[in-house]
Amino acid sequence: MLLSRFPRTPLAHLPTRLEHLPRLSAHLGGPEIFVKRDDCTGLATGGNKTRKLEFVMGDALRQGADTIVTVGAVQSNHVRQTAAAACKLGMKCEVLLEHRIEDPSYTYVSSGNVLLDRIFGANIREFPGGTDFDQAMADVVDEVSKAGGKPYIVPGGASNPIGALGYVNCALELLNQANELGLIIDHLITATGSAGTQAGLIVGLKATNSGIPLLGIGVSAAKDAQEDKVFSLAVETADYIGAPGCVDRDDVIANCDYVGDSYGVPTESMNEAVLLLARLEGLLFDPVYSGKALAGLIDLVCSDGFAGAKNIVFLHTGGSAALFAYADQLNISA
Ligand SMILES: *Cc1c(COP(=O)(O)O)cnc(C)c1O
Repeated sequence: MLLSRFPRTPLAHLPTRLEHLPRLSAHLGGPEIFVKRDDCTGLATGGNKTRKLEFVMGDALRQGADTIVTVGAVQSNHVRQTAAAACKLGMKCEVLLEHRIEDPSYTYVSSGNVLLDRIFGANIREFPGGTDFDQAMADVVDEVSKAGGKPYIVPGGASNPIGALGYVNCALELLNQANELGLIIDHLITATGSAGTQAGLIVGLKATNSGIPLLGIGVSAAKDAQEDKVFSLAVETADYIGAPGCVDRDDVIANCDYVGDSYGVPTESMNEAVLLLARLEGLLFDPVYSGKALAGLIDLVCSDGFAGAKNIVFLHTGGSAALFAYADQLNISA
């Protein structure tokens, strides 16, 4: 497995730090908890999409594209990082935003990530929830081509085998850090949505025989649907890097008990987790992804879900820019 075979353009500050959280670990009284700081990837307030975009935008450049076409929710972290990457590489960015939240507040539709998309000059088109985005993106691609541009589609979350390479790379980076520190990682935990993060990580962890189990904590779909989505992308990614068959269906585990009402809708446990980490460790998590995953991590640690584990690593996938958009939905006094 040699990632340097694939086109890549530098966007991220790597390696991201692996930090111990002594106060959270003591507070929960379970295993030692470490956090892999992918919230600090450096591009436009950071986050997990930046690693994927190094490979996806590398491919776009190789194909001679001049316009990126991508899709996400109104408060998409992916869209914000993609819009910034397009600026840095001198490309245009056509954004299709999906309204996935009913009756959104003014802050939700104007602050946080979407404010940053506008600052980066992305051309934003808004669509109702449930739109057929394959068709809508094809229409935008046609429009761009007719105007003489060279469009390139980045799928939602940059979750395809090319983007997932960013998280194969993250797995390798984490193993190096653990080896240097003499740290035995008993579990790795990440939020999982469009699946590229979990799929790339499991391919990296399995192709190297690391023996580290990976748990995805879901933020939208139900368990079976989420696991199937991650597994099929992992299989494609393993084929793509030339390590076919390295991931079994059993290696893909998602816990989707912390989604709450639906994607992007705050939960009480997310709210508590965000405040706890802020006040114990000075760290910011987000309401949609990392905060719900953290709520899952905390609940599982407290209910002995990682029995026997000494050291667990939580991948901080970023997203704190969305906190501003949720200002009026968080229960801060709690
Ligand atoms: C997109 C995102 C995730 C989920 O990653 P996927 O690769 O889409 O599964 C998790 N956390 C944050 C902050 C994100 O923006």
